[in-house]
Amino acid sequence: MIDNNKIEAAVRLLLEGIGEDPTREGLIETPARIARMYQEIFAGMGEDAETYLRKTFVAPNNEMIVEKDIIFYSTCEHHMMPFFGKAHVAYIPDGRVVGLSKLARTVETFACRLQLQEQLTAEIAEALMVHLKPTGVMVMVEAEHLCLTMRGVKKPGSKTITTVTKGVFVAEQRLRDGFYQMIKG
Ligand code: ZN
Repeated sequence: MIDNNKIEAAVRLLLEGIGEDPTREGLIETPARIARMYQEIFAGMGEDAETYLRKTFVAPNNEMIVEKDIIFYSTCEHHMMPFFGKAHVAYIPDGRVVGLSKLARTVETFACRLQLQEQLTAEIAEALMVHLKPTGVMVMVEAEHLCLTMRGVKKPGSKTITTVTKGVFVAEQRLRDGFYQMIKG
């Protein structure tokens, strides 16, 4: 799916575009290196979250499940620069649960694409709703965007926080408060 030849040709052009010489020693391997790196950081392009969320188990109860501090690295689609941070994922089962590692896998699948933070947050929440059919989902993503902190306004360490709520989380403040309480610290 990812075309190494196209990436390599594009990187050579990019290097020329910024006034570099793509044939000098330090850069000669760079296009191939970037192509290999893209295979990894855009691995989510060929993946479906269903792969991880398909297998569910009977829930021992229907209390809120929170997986917090899921570290992720993604790439902003406006600048093709990294944004990275933590995702916190919660859901309230309706009889079925999924293995905890699968929540992190789901985050990774959507992060390893060209993304917008708002969209990443929404896609994680939607995948959980569709595949687990819980009574509610809440996802919070906090991230630093290099396109904000390395250029432009240059505010290192500043974070963007996005949340998406679905199902019972939308109407019930008590559940959202419970979520915030659990991800604190
Ligand atoms: Zn950006």
